[in-house]
Amino acid sequence: MTQKPTGAEIRQTFIDFFVEHKHTFVPSASLVPGGDATLLFTNAGMVQFKDVFLGTDKRPYTRAVDSQKVLRVAGKHNDLDEVGRDDSHHTFFEMLGNWSFGDYYKQEAISWAWQLLTQVWSLPGESLYATCFKDDKGNIPTDDEAADIWKQQPGMQPVHVLFFGRKENFWEMAETGPCGPCSEIHMDRGEEFDNLRGKPHRCGVNGECTRYLELWNNVFIQYNRIDKDTLEPLPAKHVDTGMGFERIVSVLQGVDSNYKIDLFQGALDSVRALTGDSPEKMFANFTPYRVIADHARAAAFLIADGVVPGNVGRNYVCRMIIRRAARFGTKLDLHDPFLANVAEAIILAYGDFYPELVKSREVILDNLRREEVRFARTVESGTAYLQGMLDALKQSGQKSLDGRKAFDLYATYGLPFEIARDIAREQDLEVDEAGFRTAMDEHRLASGGGKAMGRMGGEDAGFYAGIRKELQKDGRLGKDGVEYNPYEWLQVEGPLLALAADGQLLNETGAGDRVEVLLAKTGFYVESGGQVSDTGTIRASDGSWEIEITEMRKPSAGVIVHVGELVFGHPKTGDLAIAAVDVARRHDIRRNHTATHLLHAALHQVLGQKAVQAGSLVAPDHFRFDFNHPEAMTPEQVEQVEKLVNEAVAADYAVTSVSKSRQQAISEGAMALFGEKYGDVVRTITIGDPQHRHSYELCGGTHLERTSDVGAFLIVSESSAAAGVRRIEAVTGRGAYELVARRFKLLKQAAGVLKSAVEEVPQKAEQIQEELAATRKQVAGLKKDLAMKLFSTQLSAADNIKGVHLVAMELPGLDKETLGQLADTFREKYPDHGICVIATFSAGQVIVMAAVTQDLIKQGIKAGDLVGHLSRQLGAGGGGAPHLAFGGGRDAEKIPAALAGVSVWVEGKLK
Ligand SMILES: [Zn+2]
Ligand SMILES: [Zn+2]
Repeated sequence: MTQKPTGAEIRQTFIDFFVEHKHTFVPSASLVPGGDATLLFTNAGMVQFKDVFLGTDKRPYTRAVDSQKVLRVAGKHNDLDEVGRDDSHHTFFEMLGNWSFGDYYKQEAISWAWQLLTQVWSLPGESLYATCFKDDKGNIPTDDEAADIWKQQPGMQPVHVLFFGRKENFWEMAETGPCGPCSEIHMDRGEEFDNLRGKPHRCGVNGECTRYLELWNNVFIQYNRIDKDTLEPLPAKHVDTGMGFERIVSVLQGVDSNYKIDLFQGALDSVRALTGDSPEKMFANFTPYRVIADHARAAAFLIADGVVPGNVGRNYVCRMIIRRAARFGTKLDLHDPFLANVAEAIILAYGDFYPELVKSREVILDNLRREEVRFARTVESGTAYLQGMLDALKQSGQKSLDGRKAFDLYATYGLPFEIARDIAREQDLEVDEAGFRTAMDEHRLASGGGKAMGRMGGEDAGFYAGIRKELQKDGRLGKDGVEYNPYEWLQVEGPLLALAADGQLLNETGAGDRVEVLLAKTGFYVESGGQVSDTGTIRASDGSWEIEITEMRKPSAGVIVHVGELVFGHPKTGDLAIAAVDVARRHDIRRNHTATHLLHAALHQVLGQKAVQAGSLVAPDHFRFDFNHPEAMTPEQVEQVEKLVNEAVAADYAVTSVSKSRQQAISEGAMALFGEKYGDVVRTITIGDPQHRHSYELCGGTHLERTSDVGAFLIVSESSAAAGVRRIEAVTGRGAYELVARRFKLLKQAAGVLKSAVEEVPQKAEQIQEELAATRKQVAGLKKDLAMKLFSTQLSAADNIKGVHLVAMELPGLDKETLGQLADTFREKYPDHGICVIATFSAGQVIVMAAVTQDLIKQGIKAGDLVGHLSRQLGAGGGGAPHLAFGGGRDAEKIPAALAGVSVWVEGKLK
């Protein structure tokens, strides 16, 4: 090779090679696995094909090639610790793969891999090794088949075909299910790539150094694991391969680090532009550069897939990697936001192949900047506080910081666990991770957020998979399971296949019992894409029984279950039944669903393309729509959005659904939504003329035929759903009518109370407010006048205690300011030898004031002391200056006794 191929060329060569061998190119699935609550992020190429291997999903092709976006920072696969320390680990990376679903097998997979590596990419065959499976436990047959095929490859040295055991060369998806031997291709890069050269170490394939690199793993799925000891051959055998993209690029570009490939150069240059480091200086201190490049890339891809920084789950991970990158920036003396610059370079390097980066460019840059600013505000106090805790830990001789303390640090200063741990490790200390997670889960449960991960697909999945198998045997259920058409089958007839409850089949059931009903076909919508499930009834065709359906669920692939209560009769298996959706309720749901699409379009018009949907709930009586937006909408924006939606309703646009390939829909600009699972064939919803679409989304929900059917659309509230995410609650149709009717009734009631016409309610209310304010002022004035009068009467009749004029009295309803004025009045009358104490009770609070003339202060009588003495008796505290002090209290009934004691206190002081 005269010129090094670029990373983009290498990726394309891989795809083209397999497309030439009749593979279908399948775009990368989102980093957020659709419809899989058990997984936080897509962590392998396998994820989007899992259901195909399990036999519960079918694709229109049997050979596929892809480059899958993968993130490994959470759960079982977590490479975060390694990232930055070495040259080969990433949080985010691309996985190249070719796939056979019951099509070709070992012969083709191995010879194509060999051809691509040695002929297309011209890697020397003598430096390549292949590993095959030989069971170290002696139970599973040795994969001689693969070994023999490897030895036949032109240029492969037979001694380079090696055998390894279960750990290296046997792949299992889970404790049961598809599994099989794998075969890896390793490369000897030569002594100069050995990071342990000269030191004693295990140098070889699967050894300890960087000289031998694993390039490509071919998994041959040929067994189904029934239990710990039993493997059953699969009727259809599959191939699943994975090649770390960055690694093969580093080999083909002849560099000794994944971070030295061309795709990272722009990102590293953008950091160097800020630090002023030369390349040599950067390589000498490569760790922070690697972390920043890696994390900025991961964050950019995450945000493009709809995951913005936040406090929980996926959003927490996004926040954590941005903050971690920012902290490594401080090690390079970068203290202002800089990650957007790095992300720009990433978008430039990856945008052609991953257009979602270009589409979300503004959102990515904006979120990075704002997250860095947020972090900068708290990081200093957070790290200072952490350092205090670490110092205390060292003094006590302990090694690990309490996880709860680390959580407090996160909750108070936004210092993520991973960063606290980085800092601790830099000082040879640890942070207890389990304790942190526990504290976080407790906090989340207490704040009503639920656990980070949802429950798995249902504990009775196995039960229903068994029923499905049984029913498919004699054809009562089709090969794809329950037929499902929520768009057309609002009422559908068929035999009742099974009745169950609590994971058991039922022979009979009584009225009021909760039952689960399995039919061969159904039109009941099962909750997905934010739209709630349908309700309705299932009744015998002969009218002899009826079950009211309140819930729908999908316990296992191909199985849809209606959950409800028996109303009357005795249903039994085999009865002919009619499943009827509650049509009125469904119609309300359709109105709301179509309105969410109109709202999404209106938000884009008013707030811009960045206002991307982040979640929704479509119910019959209202809907909720979450979207990315950094700040509260103004009342004008809310009004504008509401108006635009109502205009689109009035325009009476047609709503049409068309199924097409996902690639085509996306390239036509259809909006794909966050967290949704899309197959290769997707349903698209167009609102308006297909030539001039008003809205175009991928959506499996149920919709109106024309927008005018929405009726009226009203926004009930606009609020915050999470950091950077706003929430609109709205109503349509009947819901809007009910809201208007309810509000109108209240308005009429208010008009009645105010004795005004409905139109004049605001002026009338304002007028009454003004009158009330004036009256309050007047009352306060009168109270004050009255108090003054009472006070001056008392003033003339002041007690005389050993030559001191003492006034101690209670006056009702005064404020502090008036008390101060009374003190002045007292001083005018008695410039010397005077003590004045006034207690008042107003708005549930006792206030006590004491004033003392200067000459008495010299004799040791201080207003502050006097108030303190009184306040204690009144159930509170107080104090102040020697000449004037205020105190409080709660017990108004103790005022007389306290005041009566003043003269005794004064006498005591005068002795
Ligand atoms: Zn070595
Ligand atoms: Zn939709």
